[in-house]
Amino acid sequence: MNEFDCDLFVIGGGSGGVRAARMAAQRGARVVLAEAAALGGTCVNVGCIPKKLYSYAAEYSDHFADAAGFGWELDAPRFDWDTLKTRRAAEISRLNGVYEHLLRTAGVRIERGWAQLAGAHTVQVELGGELRRHRARHILLATGGTPWVPDFPGRELVITSDQVFDLAPFPRRLVIVGGGYIACEFASIFQGLGAQVTQLVRGEQILRGFDEDVRPFIAHEMRKHGVDLRLRSDLRSVVRANGHLAVSLQDGEVLPADAVLFATGRSPNTAGLGLEAARVRQDEHGAVEVDEHYRTSVPGIHAIGDLTARVQLTPVALAEAMALVDHLFGGGTRSVGYECIPTAVFTHPNIGTVGLTESEARERLGAIAVFRTEFRPLRHTLSGSTERTLMKLVVDCASDRVVGLHMVGAEAGEIVQGFAVAMKAGATKAVFDATIGIHPTAAEEFVTMR
Ligand code: FAD
Ligand code: NDP
Repeated sequence: MNEFDCDLFVIGGGSGGVRAARMAAQRGARVVLAEAAALGGTCVNVGCIPKKLYSYAAEYSDHFADAAGFGWELDAPRFDWDTLKTRRAAEISRLNGVYEHLLRTAGVRIERGWAQLAGAHTVQVELGGELRRHRARHILLATGGTPWVPDFPGRELVITSDQVFDLAPFPRRLVIVGGGYIACEFASIFQGLGAQVTQLVRGEQILRGFDEDVRPFIAHEMRKHGVDLRLRSDLRSVVRANGHLAVSLQDGEVLPADAVLFATGRSPNTAGLGLEAARVRQDEHGAVEVDEHYRTSVPGIHAIGDLTARVQLTPVALAEAMALVDHLFGGGTRSVGYECIPTAVFTHPNIGTVGLTESEARERLGAIAVFRTEFRPLRHTLSGSTERTLMKLVVDCASDRVVGLHMVGAEAGEIVQGFAVAMKAGATKAVFDATIGIHPTAAEEFVTMR
């Protein structure tokens, strides 16, 4: 008799979990997936997808303003927040259905409940007040992460990215705390939608870890768009006052706000997962520790995605899922390259980046050459907008390889994706120089910098 009732039990139906379950089932494995909330996880429900839809919505304010320079006459446009929220919610529930369909078509059994480890090969799922036990040959933990908010007086009055999409009413005055991806993206989004945004950043500059030219450049562009970006600024407390919130800063200033959004990082979803009982090792931040094959400290239990808190990006969770399934069910040895992961920040304008920052390259490689250009995009010669574009290449002198490529400008994410392929293939600066540009585009600057 088979001692296991499934080959793979996946806990968490987000980016990584759904991909792993689907791929494993397509390879003939018997797969069960437990999801306690909505299928699709963070990315689909409260992350990448609704965020990008709101980012598109916010871009229209610039487009309307730009149109006049091209001869368009428009009545003053009016934005309806409730329409955007309703249309987003409909699209997200369509996607939830697509995910369910994909899983069921692949043969994955879905259990809609909270799952926890009850041993090295045992999972129990709470289904309508009852516990169902499964014996699994392999278990995959893909439970993602949750917004983390520090302690301070009035913490219960602030929101995180989980609540921001459905705020009611529209926050005319929004205070955002944090200087990372989420804080910067939502500062651009709400400023574009018509809110007065104040962004409080504790450090010297936003977007730690990004290239040192990119950081002040995007900060300047965000300010030009109207974001009141305050560096070296810390929040002390929040209280309710006459129908709004009063936000006290460390320097004594008090800001009135309709909402306060904290975007101060995320922590791995480990509570109630049974990690201690199963003796799955976690690091000092609570993330599940894994080796290069996503094996935890307990044989048979694997973990991927935000739960392991390595690189918190959807395409990374997907790549880890595919590498793991290949390894467990395909006899493959696919591995994920953590160097050179392209990424975009959907600020207005966008940031697109891949490879090393200038300082990282200098530290690791010594002799480097830097090519940098900054210009007014062609569109804005007529639009009247003062928005500028930054592009930068970092080249290793010894090998001539392009090791860093950074852009701030319209569609930077779209542009950088293609260049990331070239860099993955080891393109040298000579290859960039020998590539004919597409004229007139912004992207051609990457092959014409000398
Ligand atoms: P998740 O997608 O979080 O899925 C985990 C799932 O597990 C959830 O559905 C949860 O309900 C479920 N779960 C948890 N515990 C249990 C349990 N015990 N039992 C059953 N189910 C459980 N990344 C990008 O690449 N591009 C972007 O533009 C981008 N934008 C983002 C914007 C925001 C606002 C946020 C918050 C994140 C964004 N990300 C973006 C990051 C991206 O969403 C995550 O990296 C990705 O979703 C991680 O996938 P995952 O599978 O590890 O976890
Ligand atoms: P990040 O780690 O990117 O940024 C956290 C920010 O909060 C930093 O500016 C940090 O400052 C600040 N911070 C931390 N603790 C405090 C505190 N106690 N008081 C004040 N400020 C504090 O996290 P996010 O929450 O923005 O996003 C989480 C992850 O989700 C990202 O790292 C990214 O991987 C992913 N994501 C990806 C997106 C994309 O691909 N476009 C979009 C959104 C999210 P300091 O720098 O000084 O530590």
